[in-house]
Amino acid sequence: MPDQRIERAEGSQRMSQMVPPLNQLYFYLTEGCNLACRHCWLSPKLDPDGDQYPTLPVALFEVAIKQAMPLGLSGVKLTGGEPLIHPKFCELLEIVRLEDLQLNIETNGTRCTPEVAAEIAKSSRPFVSVSLDGADAGTHDWVRGVTGCFEEAREGVRNLVAADIRPQIIMSLMRCNVDQVEAVIQMAERLGARSVKFNVVQPTGRGERFRDGTDGLRVTELIELGRRVETELASDTQLELIFDYPLAFRGLSRIASGEGCGVCGIFGILGVIASGHYALCGIGQQVPELVFGRVGVDPVEQVWGEAPVLNELRAGLPERLEGVCRQCLMKYRCLGSCVAQNYYRSGRLWEPFWFCEEAEKLGLFPASRLSNSPTGQQR
Ligand code: SF4
Ligand code: SF4
Repeated sequence: MPDQRIERAEGSQRMSQMVPPLNQLYFYLTEGCNLACRHCWLSPKLDPDGDQYPTLPVALFEVAIKQAMPLGLSGVKLTGGEPLIHPKFCELLEIVRLEDLQLNIETNGTRCTPEVAAEIAKSSRPFVSVSLDGADAGTHDWVRGVTGCFEEAREGVRNLVAADIRPQIIMSLMRCNVDQVEAVIQMAERLGARSVKFNVVQPTGRGERFRDGTDGLRVTELIELGRRVETELASDTQLELIFDYPLAFRGLSRIASGEGCGVCGIFGILGVIASGHYALCGIGQQVPELVFGRVGVDPVEQVWGEAPVLNELRAGLPERLEGVCRQCLMKYRCLGSCVAQNYYRSGRLWEPFWFCEEAEKLGLFPASRLSNSPTGQQR
């Protein structure tokens, strides 16, 4: 018996050495959204006032944060659906403020009134991203599925800037707006934004229909555009421009800058979805096996330390990644770009990232980013 106790003690010591700090909680606050974007990876239900579908109770939000503080929590991301339609959004902000956590909000901007912007501005280090998928109302409203949301989003950006928060503009790239990239940068400059991030539409949820190159862009086009944004367009503006394609396609200076975009944060992030469950991230709303326990029932320390999927990932990433990710020199930092996306399309954790796989098939994957070791036998 004593031997078994020693084994158990050693086992739990080994486990605690392997478990990294839980730096961030990503809160998917609502199952609904007031917009109906054609490319949304989460596919929330249309809910103009946030009162028809579940939203995360304030008490569970607070419990998750309080329990995560001793594990190393330094920040939260509030996203959705649309986080600003949460009926108690300002109470959530107050909890974040009291714990002095870094605040990151992803919003469509339409509900960002002067009052809400002022509440956000009370946090010590707020970072807000607002989606603008076109430089005119016709394009943006078509993408976002609700007439009038372009003007509302721009007003939201103005309200943030007036509250002394310079937001990041996020533009999701597709066939209908690819010609407006420069115009969106100019609009962001005029509005007073700090940066523009160009997102590749992921083939998840409603984004799946953008994969074939009709409404969406082909990988070839995205690689070409990414290079143009990072060189030519970046030198023409004071704004920071970020192109969200995988690390293997970035210039060395972008990689050296430490920008975390396109890198899987799975070693330090846990999701909390509107139903009150812990999950890998928002993907838990669509993939039940990536849900790990209930807030307020299962202690977050236990979920973070013991969820089998999380421990499998800690033990296996990046070495067990397959295909082009296994050969890639970036894999120790990139970790396969997005484990949730990789799992979504195959039901397997070690699937390579779709974008890089497709680029490799087309002969467009940068050879300088591939290992020269005889990895062919591993693939
Ligand atoms: S992309 Fe954002 S704003 Fe659009 S439907 Fe999805 S959650 Fe709502
Ligand atoms: S091949 Fe995989 S590890 Fe390399 S950059 Fe692409 S997604 Fe990341």
